[in-house]
Amino acid sequence: MTRTTRTALISGSSIAGPTLAFWLNRCGYAVTVVERASAPRSGGYPIDVRGTALEVVRRMGILPRLRDAHIDLRRLTFLHEDGSEVASIHPHTVTGGVEGRDLEVRRGDLTDALHAAVRDDVEFLFNDSIATLDQHAHGVDVTFRGGGARSFDVVLGADGIHSDTREMLFGPEDQFHHYLGYCFAVFTMRNTFGLSHETVMWNAPGRAAALYAVGDDDAVHAFFTFARPELPFSAFPDPAAQRGLVAEVFADAGWEVPGMLTAMRDADDLYFDAVGQIRMPHWSSGRVALAGDAAYAPSFLTGQGTSLALVGAYMLACSLAGRDHTEGFAAYEDGTREFVSANQALVGKGGATLFPTTAEALAQRNDRLRHLGATPPAQGRPAHSALTLPEFTPTS
Ligand SMILES: Cc1cc2nc3c(=O)[nH]c(=O)nc-3n(C[C@H](O)[C@H](O)[C@H](O)COP(=O)(O)OP(=O)(O)OC[C@H]3O[C@@H](n4cnc5c(N)ncnc54)[C@H](O)[C@@H]3O)c2cc1C
Repeated sequence: MTRTTRTALISGSSIAGPTLAFWLNRCGYAVTVVERASAPRSGGYPIDVRGTALEVVRRMGILPRLRDAHIDLRRLTFLHEDGSEVASIHPHTVTGGVEGRDLEVRRGDLTDALHAAVRDDVEFLFNDSIATLDQHAHGVDVTFRGGGARSFDVVLGADGIHSDTREMLFGPEDQFHHYLGYCFAVFTMRNTFGLSHETVMWNAPGRAAALYAVGDDDAVHAFFTFARPELPFSAFPDPAAQRGLVAEVFADAGWEVPGMLTAMRDADDLYFDAVGQIRMPHWSSGRVALAGDAAYAPSFLTGQGTSLALVGAYMLACSLAGRDHTEGFAAYEDGTREFVSANQALVGKGGATLFPTTAEALAQRNDRLRHLGATPPAQGRPAHSALTLPEFTPTS
């Protein structure tokens, strides 16, 4: 008996995962997505969809829905250590976004739209994850933590920067994680500041605190980032240690920081991590490949993580259409690596310069901000659009 339908298991259902599922389904794969969380996660901080990634969501038919969800951030105000204003500019001036074209949406609005586009065609297993992977000549045998065992033709890891699929396949994260010298913490708190569609950022050398009001709602995203030459390993497994470290680093800070630290103590959605990139010499091994942050997280300093996840997932699925996994994975790397490298290289050019670590560098940055034009550039950064998507050829 010959099997005609190829099968794929995708680990992770955030951005890269459902995008991969959508396109693999269109090239005739029977797709299963396993997600550790109990449901698609709504809410979350704002993310950007720019350049080439806009074409991915357009081809998926969700661009109009995302345009309706566009946040339309109007102002980014930088403050001195004493809370006085340095400059107030249009956010696109520093992010390289293009007015009227690029999108900024709540992360949950994007994941909801992606999930809705694929949920009727694909099997989702929430509240579960891969326990073991065993590759052989004819497939990959998988066992699940929730119990059960199945075989698939290919397994694709879209499970984020701390990918378990990557660890199972290639070993520990520290081989691939390039620490960029900062840690960050984000959480939501009550918007008692009257902020709307804007970000306010307080800076001291090596430290920044920001309030990000996505709309007129009564919540703001609070954000702390601070420089640390070495990774603070001891803080990672322990949320209490993370809160303690942030509170210590910002203990003497003024402006709204004391209230933000108080809110952080009670926040139930605190997310703390190191700022880093994943850089790997290869994104696949045998019948298993990685996409999105799992393979090439660029860090929030580039603002391109979401766009890379969308484009990378499209390229991976497109490369598998009409090819076996060996040729398909090679074509994926071939067609995508230059785009990934160009976007990871943005790290020195935009966001990183927003967080200078010395008083002199901060004064120079402030000077640059004061002299930026009021109108953002009409063209985005070349890296955002550095790949022209191939046409997708369904094979089912
Ligand atoms: C604070 C912050 C701010 C950011 N700001 C921006 C921004 O302004 N612009 C931008 O473009 N990007 C931004 N990003 C980056 C962006 O969120 C990521 O690049 C993007 O979400 C990557 O998508 P992904 O699908 O590859 O991985 P993720 O979104 O990380 O999704 C991974 C998924 O896998 C699931 N998972 C994890 N492990 C397992 C497992 N073992 N089994 C099953 N499921 C698993 C997770 O629950 C999750 O659903 C930011 C990130 C952070 C943390």
